[in-house]
Amino acid sequence: MSEKFDVVVIGGGPAGYPAAIRAAQNKLSVACIDAWQNTDGSYAFGGTCLNAGCIPSKALLESSELYHRAQHELAVHGIRCADVQLDLTTMQKRRASVVKAMTGGILALFKSAGVTGIVGRGRLLGANQVEVTAADGTVRILEAKDVILASGSVPVHLESVPHDGKFIVDSWNALEFGKVPRRLGVIGAGVIGLELGSVWRRLGSEVVMLEALEQFLPMTDQAVAREAQRHFKKLGLDIRLGARVQKAVVEEGVVNLTYTDAIGEQKLQVDQLVVAVGRRPYTQGLLAEGTGVELDQRGFIAVDEHCRTAVPHIWAVGDVVRGPMLAHKGKEEGVMVADLIGGRYAEVNYRVIPSVIYTAPEIAWVGQTEEQVKASGVAYKVGSFPFAASGRARAMEAGVGFAKIVAARESDEILGVHIIGPMAGELIAEAVLAMEYAASTEDLQRTIHAHPTLSEALHEAALAADKRAIDSINR
Ligand code: FAD
Ligand code: NAD
Repeated sequence: MSEKFDVVVIGGGPAGYPAAIRAAQNKLSVACIDAWQNTDGSYAFGGTCLNAGCIPSKALLESSELYHRAQHELAVHGIRCADVQLDLTTMQKRRASVVKAMTGGILALFKSAGVTGIVGRGRLLGANQVEVTAADGTVRILEAKDVILASGSVPVHLESVPHDGKFIVDSWNALEFGKVPRRLGVIGAGVIGLELGSVWRRLGSEVVMLEALEQFLPMTDQAVAREAQRHFKKLGLDIRLGARVQKAVVEEGVVNLTYTDAIGEQKLQVDQLVVAVGRRPYTQGLLAEGTGVELDQRGFIAVDEHCRTAVPHIWAVGDVVRGPMLAHKGKEEGVMVADLIGGRYAEVNYRVIPSVIYTAPEIAWVGQTEEQVKASGVAYKVGSFPFAASGRARAMEAGVGFAKIVAARESDEILGVHIIGPMAGELIAEAVLAMEYAASTEDLQRTIHAHPTLSEALHEAALAADKRAIDSINR
């Protein structure tokens, strides 16, 4: 006999679980199915983000940054740390406990909202029927008026670099290392490569990053990319651009890599190698024959701007559909779909999605880069403010980087904001809100910012766009 729900969500990551909660808030009966199994054998909601992505990486970034500061950055404050020692076991236990608290929190949220959480593998059978297979092989059938597919993504593996989970690993394995690798190789100098490369570099690894592209961080404003490259070099990240890996072989407990660059064939030996060359949508076993749900050329579930698939009442959200693979993008899509199902108005403003790279200095942006605005042909102006001129940043001994605003010359509307510097990921929220309300630089100029705060950097950047900055030289 089948069980009946208004909404069944397949996938309990940051796209699926908020969809389930919002659907329940909309007074719908909801089940959320998830199959995530951790390396200790336990099952947990939260998907990649909570179990093997955003949260554990940020826990380790925080711990490793504190270790790095204690070693290198406290002396200037007059604090001497004679014998700073790394206890990686405790650091990793803390990372695991942060994850456990967060994933356990989802169960509490489900209970309070009235969502039925089901551990198992879901498969859309068509005609709004979902089959769930539990770990012990038990099968049950759920019927739903609406089904939301939120099956997420998995790392891309390279055929020439065979993953073995020990020497050649993906980002998940690299978050759980029990020993600091002496020499760490990273393929891909994207977001994961830079975050994980920073963690292990700060903890003592020699890190070499091999990036296929000639350009560093092509998705960011290039002034930010140049500044970032300078700081990462200072940290000791050896980032080699235009490096194409031919093969990697594990021999006698080390990884021997062959790659080519502008000079020719190169060799590199490392103790462990992280492959961080992107992620791909995950739909394995998700769709039975003939559901009518279509995949696009790159394997994403094809949806419209409201996350509707080609089949009525079947929706898809998060990493498994087009757009940036970001937890907050998935969350907003999940909430939008749950509201649409609940008969409410909802949309996602895809033009205003912030991105953050949690390195030191942190990098954050929203909207268009200067290069994109220039290419669009719109007349524009730029205002920048260096954190070196920020009293708060100086007091924090963090006066590096800048905030930059790109705005339309005629209308004054803010088109993009780019920050590299202390707490950039927090500061960007003001820019996101401003752009959500189609603010002008004048709106930011007239907004009072507390002194001394890092947020004054955005205020001054807005003023600088009209050459009216007070605390820095107008150029
Ligand atoms: P997922 O989180 O992948 O969740 C999908 C869930 O569905 C999984 O639990 C999976 O097991 C389950 N599932 C799949 N198929 C089935 C099925 N058939 N039946 C049942 N369950 C199924 N993003 C950010 O915004 N900020 C960050 O700081 C950040 N850091 C990251 C760091 C790392 C190392 C990585 C790898 C990613 C990071 N991301 C970050 C990206 C972020 O994790 C993803 O964008 C986000 O998790 C996508 O959410 P999702 O719900 O679409 O998919
Ligand atoms: P990415 O796309 O950010 O970076 C992958 C990099 O690998 C690119 O620079 C690419 O040019 C390079 N590359 C691809 N193939 C290569 C090859 N054969 N040899 C060498 N280099 C190669 O992808 P990622 O870092 O794997 O992250 C995956 C997704 O997870 C991203 O979409 C990202 O948005 C998300 N994520 C977000 C955060 C965050 O928000 N802070 C953190 C981690 C991951």
